[in-house]
Amino acid sequence: MVTKVEKPTDDIIEYGAGLILSGEVVAIPTETVYGLAANGYDGNACAKIFKAKGRPMDNPLIIHISNMNMLYNSVENVPPLALRLAEKFWPGPLTMIFKKKDIVPTQTSGGLDTVAVRMPDNPYTLKLISACNVPLAAPSANRSGSPSPTTAQHVYDDMNGRIPLIIDGGECKTGVESTVICFTDNGEKIKILRPGAITLEMLSEFAPTRLDKNVFNKPAENEKVISPGVKYKHYSPRAEIIIIKTDSDDSFSEYVNNNSDSDTCAVIFGCEKDINIPVIVYGECDDAQAHNLFGALRETDDRGYKRAYVRCPHTTGVGTAVYNRLIRAAAFRVIEL
Ligand code: AMP
Ligand code: MG
Repeated sequence: MVTKVEKPTDDIIEYGAGLILSGEVVAIPTETVYGLAANGYDGNACAKIFKAKGRPMDNPLIIHISNMNMLYNSVENVPPLALRLAEKFWPGPLTMIFKKKDIVPTQTSGGLDTVAVRMPDNPYTLKLISACNVPLAAPSANRSGSPSPTTAQHVYDDMNGRIPLIIDGGECKTGVESTVICFTDNGEKIKILRPGAITLEMLSEFAPTRLDKNVFNKPAENEKVISPGVKYKHYSPRAEIIIIKTDSDDSFSEYVNNNSDSDTCAVIFGCEKDINIPVIVYGECDDAQAHNLFGALRETDDRGYKRAYVRCPHTTGVGTAVYNRLIRAAAFRVIEL
């Protein structure tokens, strides 16, 4: 199959909508990462997403809507808290889980009786969803297990020959996937299953909010997890990623200098650093690190490194999302100095 990469003109959006309504899969830009989109109400089309990604069939997809009617059409009941959150954060990087209606096929929900929904904040993708007039099921547009794509080139690197069209909307603003939440206590409390740019601190202004224990931890072998995506080693380049936890810049440098050679190792660090091995800079503040993380992980492979050391990011605010992705990219290899 030939994979076209096209700018999001009106003609291309119409062409993309035609492909999706005929059961094909199209890569779309969002404010978080690029998505691999199919008609969320068409089980066979959604099955093609799993095939293109090599994604385990029990890992459910998020459906993307462009108006609230699509939400009511897809889910059984919407707690008042969810409406308040939608009003504040949609369109935006917040995904909410609801009991699904039968119109959402089990291929989309990974066999669960719930479905995850969000309204993305990207004008071209909102137009595309409205042109299709159905929600679009869309996971991140990477091969399963690899770092998520934040540019059309990243998508092309992973999906060339597997899908007919990549809509190139430029670089993604946020850079990490959406915050995924579910409601507990009769819809009055919030649990964060996957952290993102809508933080615990922001959600706590609306209702009592806590992080699921798997946000920072590896689920036990055979544990039944609420969000199946957290089970898998994830977001990983081929290079081995190792997180170094330390309060001191000097001890980080000393450890890295003593444990690496400059031909095969790199560090992913906030700024340029005087150290014996190459540095891939990913920014100093949480937002910059979220924006640059997946690109930095892909760069370790592009530059042929076998191992990269990363200083542990903050574990508050958007740093929570950066750390959550990094520990999975590192397959939970953390060294405390
Ligand atoms: P991705 O599609 O790659 O952004 O991943 C979607 C994330 O949302 C995964 O971690 C899924 O496990 C999670 N997710 C999607 N739908 C549900 C659901 N119905 N219940 C729990 N988690 C979900
Ligand atoms: Mg993903």
